[in-house]
Amino acid sequence: MFEKIKLPYPFSGLEPYIDTKTMMVHYERHYGAYVDNLNKYIAENPALAGLSLEDLLRNYPDDEQIRHNAGGVFNHEFFFTGMRPGARSQIIIGLSGKLLQSINRDFGSLEEMKNQFSAAANGVFGSGYAWLVAYPNKKLAIITTENQDTPIQMGLKPLLCIDVWEHAYYLKHLNLRADYVRDFWYLVDWVRVAERLG
Ligand code: MN
Repeated sequence: MFEKIKLPYPFSGLEPYIDTKTMMVHYERHYGAYVDNLNKYIAENPALAGLSLEDLLRNYPDDEQIRHNAGGVFNHEFFFTGMRPGARSQIIIGLSGKLLQSINRDFGSLEEMKNQFSAAANGVFGSGYAWLVAYPNKKLAIITTENQDTPIQMGLKPLLCIDVWEHAYYLKHLNLRADYVRDFWYLVDWVRVAERLG
């Protein structure tokens, strides 16, 4: 049985960049539905019980229920926990050291990485995510995934993602995805991203 994670901030915590109602609906209904559907599927398929999200995604890449629902749970948890209130004040702490060195090595600058990530997020056709990932050889890259596919299935280590399904921004930003992507940068928890890089 998977339980919804506890968000590390209240639904209102990401205002004014992501509004309270969007966070509430996103967490309770969209993310909640993936958790419920995954649990139902596991209950019907006892061989899957006890596996982590990552193991489900790695071991059953052709199972559509796993791709949609374990992917939906993984991606939402990763997205929600990559943001925090007041993130701007910790940028320098999170970005010192290895993370910033890796970004500078592979993108030239933080600004260039952000530009490439934003362009990828704005360019996702339909529903999906943009990601900062690390390849097994440690090289960082920007990728996009469709629907609820994850970098886990591709053998990559995810560091940061943005959900660009319309439900992630439509109530506040309407169809202006680029405005939502711009606002996202005020929320990125760089300390968490650095931890994920390890
Ligand atoms: Mn979502």
